[in-house]
Amino acid sequence: MSRKTKEIKVGDVVIGGEQRVIVQSMTNTKTENIKDTIRQIHELENVGCEIIRVAVPSMEAAEAIKDIKKAINIPLVADIHFDYRLAIASIENGADKIRINPGNLGGSERLKKVVEAAKERSIPIRVGVNSGSVEKELLEKYGGPDPEAMVESAIKNVRMIEQLDYDQIVISIKSSNVLDTIESYKRISDIVDYPLHIGITEAGTARKGIIKSSIGIGCLLYQGIGDTIRVSLTGEPKDEIKVAYEILKNLGLFDSGIEVISCPTCGRTSVDLIKIAEEVDKRVENIITKKRIKVAVMGCGVNGPGEAKDADIGIAGGKGEYLLFVKGEPIKKVNESCAVDILIEEIKKII
Ligand code: SF4
Repeated sequence: MSRKTKEIKVGDVVIGGEQRVIVQSMTNTKTENIKDTIRQIHELENVGCEIIRVAVPSMEAAEAIKDIKKAINIPLVADIHFDYRLAIASIENGADKIRINPGNLGGSERLKKVVEAAKERSIPIRVGVNSGSVEKELLEKYGGPDPEAMVESAIKNVRMIEQLDYDQIVISIKSSNVLDTIESYKRISDIVDYPLHIGITEAGTARKGIIKSSIGIGCLLYQGIGDTIRVSLTGEPKDEIKVAYEILKNLGLFDSGIEVISCPTCGRTSVDLIKIAEEVDKRVENIITKKRIKVAVMGCGVNGPGEAKDADIGIAGGKGEYLLFVKGEPIKKVNESCAVDILIEEIKKII
């Protein structure tokens, strides 16, 4: 059962409450390079990114937000460390949310100025704690950035903002350690009802990062914890979005798009199924549909259609040809060389 959280508005997107889980990412261009940043955000919008975060390490980056905002269609979050003036400038230039670590902005007076600027425009603040940002005294108290230390750090930072009479807060509490991340979010979700931005930080390059993120984010969402997700990968931000939706689809939390299932191949396979499955996977990525469609790519005509009974459409390998099937029923035989084209044509008929 989903944990009930407070609703927080980020631009025109609502996080928390009864809303479905929102997918977000972060650009890896220099924010000061307005053209490249806009181009990357457009690419991310096209694959379903719903909120985008940009790093704001300089005043030039904070000023760039103004032009970037005019050209994009999704809410923008400014990510700020240390310099409170960058947070204020980002808000003034149109950021829809800021991500800060209140403890590293240089004292309560500076934090107060940031919170006042956010309050004036009703801009939510994400308190972003990670294992590397836990305060020295908490590290000493707990002997390292373990879940207790991270939760105490996050709560301390949240209370600082609440004391300034502001409650438009989102929390993240990430570690690169999957179990610590899960434990931290579980603990904090018992203490506060602010929406939680979940993810595994510094998860790594594609293969390992996808595994870590799927386990960490997947376990939390399965327990009803998490209102918005960011998959962190050392790679293309576009891939983060694709992985995020795969996680949501597999948990039944997102109900549209094409799911490709393919068999592992075995001694009955007489076609180059691995190549074909990869090609189908790649080509369906560009097909947008609001329906939920299951496509099967199977190695043999003997067991394939039966094994993929619940697929809407699929192909099953024979000798130099494939059998096209719909809902497990054979339709026609197609040549190996044009099997993918025919399958894609058939998918397009039902989207
Ligand atoms: Fe083997 Fe056929 Fe099953 Fe694929 S569908 S694993 S080829 S039996």
